[in-house]
Amino acid sequence: MSAFISDRTTGLAGGSAAVSLGETQVAAEHSADIVIVGAGVTGCAAAVALADGRRRILVLEARNHHKPRFAGELIHPTGAQVLDDLGFLPTLRRHGGIDVSGFAVVPSVDDPSLRLPYREIPNNRPTGFAMEHRDLVDGMREVLRQTPGVEVRMGHKVDEILRDARGRVCGVRCADQRVSARLVLGCDGRHSKVRPLLGLSEQARLLSFSVAFRLPGGAPLLPNPSYGHIVLGAWGPMLLYPIGGRDGAQDARGCFDVSSELSGGPRGAAELLRRQYAPHLPLRLRQAMLDSLDRELPQIAANEAIRTDRAVLPGAAIVGDAGGCSHPLTAAGMTVGFTDAQRLGRLLAEQGRLHDPSAVDAVLHRYEVERYRFVRAREVLADALYEVFRGAEPGTRALRSGILRYWQGSEQARARSMALLSGADSRLSVFLREYLTVISKSSAAAWAARDERRAAFVGLGKKSVEKMRAVFRDVRQEATRSLSA
Ligand SMILES: Cc1cc2nc3c(=O)[nH]c(=O)nc-3n(C[C@H](O)[C@H](O)[C@H](O)COP(=O)(O)OP(=O)(O)OC[C@H]3O[C@@H](n4cnc5c(N)ncnc54)[C@H](O)[C@@H]3O)c2cc1C
Repeated sequence: MSAFISDRTTGLAGGSAAVSLGETQVAAEHSADIVIVGAGVTGCAAAVALADGRRRILVLEARNHHKPRFAGELIHPTGAQVLDDLGFLPTLRRHGGIDVSGFAVVPSVDDPSLRLPYREIPNNRPTGFAMEHRDLVDGMREVLRQTPGVEVRMGHKVDEILRDARGRVCGVRCADQRVSARLVLGCDGRHSKVRPLLGLSEQARLLSFSVAFRLPGGAPLLPNPSYGHIVLGAWGPMLLYPIGGRDGAQDARGCFDVSSELSGGPRGAAELLRRQYAPHLPLRLRQAMLDSLDRELPQIAANEAIRTDRAVLPGAAIVGDAGGCSHPLTAAGMTVGFTDAQRLGRLLAEQGRLHDPSAVDAVLHRYEVERYRFVRAREVLADALYEVFRGAEPGTRALRSGILRYWQGSEQARARSMALLSGADSRLSVFLREYLTVISKSSAAAWAARDERRAAFVGLGKKSVEKMRAVFRDVRQEATRSLSA
């Protein structure tokens, strides 16, 4: 017996099962009810959402130890609610996680910040959550290990998906070990290996890079210490937010959007931030950033937009970033992963048993319909807000003035935008209505921008046509998907 699934206390070590791989019959050394590929934030949430004490869930994680790498840290109220529902929050708070109150936009270094509080969204959790990504993953894995029926195996990279004679997914291969399963979930991130192995296609675009640094004790320096801040004025938006920390620490994070032509690695990035981004920061934050960059080099991560149109096949699904991702400015990635996980848990609970493949596949189909309904609104919003906050052209600069005026003028306007941003509202029709309202407000701003007037008008027209086309394509696709459900 191999040591692959050897933890007998969980009762996961399955007996031998026959799996046919194409023409060849091979022995599946082990079996589980559900195999989850990847123990990042999505894999952990999925395992806990699906665990019912009876199901045997095996989580396979490629890495041996969690390397500190920079990734998502801000979680909207919809995602925080899932973490709460699944019982993660007490552990995460012990690991240094804190509540966040909303977003604040700082239009330029001399302007006051414009607050967009979560509490203005009607009937919604009033706070999101934030913590350092590494601590978040550690905390979630701690909960995972205590969940009955779940086993986590570190250092187990999945290399292949197994299919039965009819082509239905029936397990995975990991080095020379095979595990059969009734359901396989790819939670292996945006560069998913499971996605191409399942034959699910994607469209990927590199947008820019994020350069991230830590500000120890920096949260009180933020204009609004419990808010995520988007500071404008540099080449790309500068995101600054509190991340808490153990023993009541009040640390903050800076995560700045820089061109994909960035060169010179972390040293080059630090120099770029010193020269071109520091002047656009409020004074106290500027000094804190310069001190941080003197102490340690920043981390760099690529910002990509990855779109998928299919997320399931008989016996398998992709979940979280494996199903696509957007620019991190809107901090939507983990909320998508957590809602994906909770949705699968709910749909499978309604269906009851995993033994009937056709019932499982019906659940997967339902999951796909519901997930894209949620995800599409996040994608179009992330795209639109990134363009607006980058403000690279006269049209998008006019839109930026329009949206800031719109938010300043009305609590309802702020609440509607924040509902879309935070996941409380996923209707593409609402996005479109808000977008067109902002376009109409922006026309006045474009008129005021004397030098750029003509270019701004042309740009606005072009942007609104592009956006409407993209949204109508998504609406059509979602309608077709729903009809086939
Ligand atoms: C710069 C940046 C900032 C961001 N900021 C935010 C934010 O503020 N808020 C937010 O919500 N989101 C943010 N995101 C997005 C967020 O980080 C992701 O949505 C989230 O990490 C996705 O989690 P995941 O578990 O799906 O994927 P990952 O975090 O990528 O985890 C995948 C896991 O699968 C494992 N794995 C991969 N391949 C295999 C294999 N073959 N076999 C076994 N295991 C495998 C990996 O080792 C990893 O542990 C940000 C992203 C970036 C890049």
